[in-house]
Amino acid sequence: MGTFKAIRIEKADKGTRAELSSFDDSELMDGDVTVRVEWSTLNYKDGLALTGKSPVVRRFPMIPGIDLSGTVEQSVNPAWKPGDRVILNGWGLGETHLGAYAQKARVRGDWLVRLPDAISARDAMAIGTAGYTAMLCVMALERHGLTPQSGPVVVTGAAGGVGSVAVTILARLGYHVIASTGRPAEADYLRHLGAAEIIDRKELQGPAKPLDRERWAGGIDSVGSTTLANVLAMTRGGGAVAACGLAGGLDLPTSVAPFILRGVCLLGINSVTCPIAHRETAWRRLASDLDFGKLHEMTKEIAFDEIIAHGSKILAGEVRGRIVVKIP
Ligand code: NDP
Repeated sequence: MGTFKAIRIEKADKGTRAELSSFDDSELMDGDVTVRVEWSTLNYKDGLALTGKSPVVRRFPMIPGIDLSGTVEQSVNPAWKPGDRVILNGWGLGETHLGAYAQKARVRGDWLVRLPDAISARDAMAIGTAGYTAMLCVMALERHGLTPQSGPVVVTGAAGGVGSVAVTILARLGYHVIASTGRPAEADYLRHLGAAEIIDRKELQGPAKPLDRERWAGGIDSVGSTTLANVLAMTRGGGAVAACGLAGGLDLPTSVAPFILRGVCLLGINSVTCPIAHRETAWRRLASDLDFGKLHEMTKEIAFDEIIAHGSKILAGEVRGRIVVKIP
């Protein structure tokens, strides 16, 4: 039995407290595969867990971190052997199951995805849940029948993690991308990722009309609330919007008008319990359809001891693109 470095979240008098700490091997939870964690990342949900702003953490003590990449150390699962390179996104990691901000994780083998040869462990976390979710959104729009010829696609929360990867993938696939952002200073950044047009997110933040001017054939929304309601009201007949986030709120003050008068479809995206075959497809698509040069440019690396401070930064909308963390 040994110990390993980890971030620990405990209940506190008011809310929760996150600190750098160590865990004992005996505290690891049930699982048939032990992974040496090499890289992790910071997503919006990690910010919620680290700050305790939302009740994301359902067990104490908890190791936060919803994403990891690393190498299998031990396995009693026939699908995995020591030395295998793996990715894990979601499945309650960092919420109900001890998570990624640790040197070691014991997890269920059927949660793991094999790291594609074309993707390094670091790049897998530069993509992370945010990027893999962006790809799930693109795949959902494609299943609906959307193509670059259908018309423009709007991406909300464009300078964030999901948004930046979504803009990059859509542009590479040939879509005319309209990026909605509250950070005008990031216009050049978004154009460099491939956005053809930038709009101020204020245009989408007022109360939505039942139907509005048709501006796009599709959308990827990581904001929710009035933003999603406006995106729906501005979607062309027969179009579709993939909704994955709530950075602007959990509510959805809309009407049925876009659905029944324009045949617009709202496509819900849940990355956490997404079936493994669908995840593998998403990771294969990321390997082929993401511009890794642009991924590197949108990614900032932080040290393990900087994770906690970055939790509140991502909730304040102060993080641009993606963050990777080298696990010591
Ligand atoms: P980020 O913080 O990186 O990005 C969110 C972006 O949303 C911000 O950068 C900002 O973009 C915009 N934003 C933030 N606050 C507001 C606000 N109050 N009103 C309008 N826009 C706002 O987070 P992620 O990209 O990691 O995650 C985005 C969302 O998607 C989160 O809600 C997250 O929980 C959700 N998510 C859901 C998943 C699922 O499985 N369904 C998986 C992954 C993420 P800008 O500055 O450009 O305006």
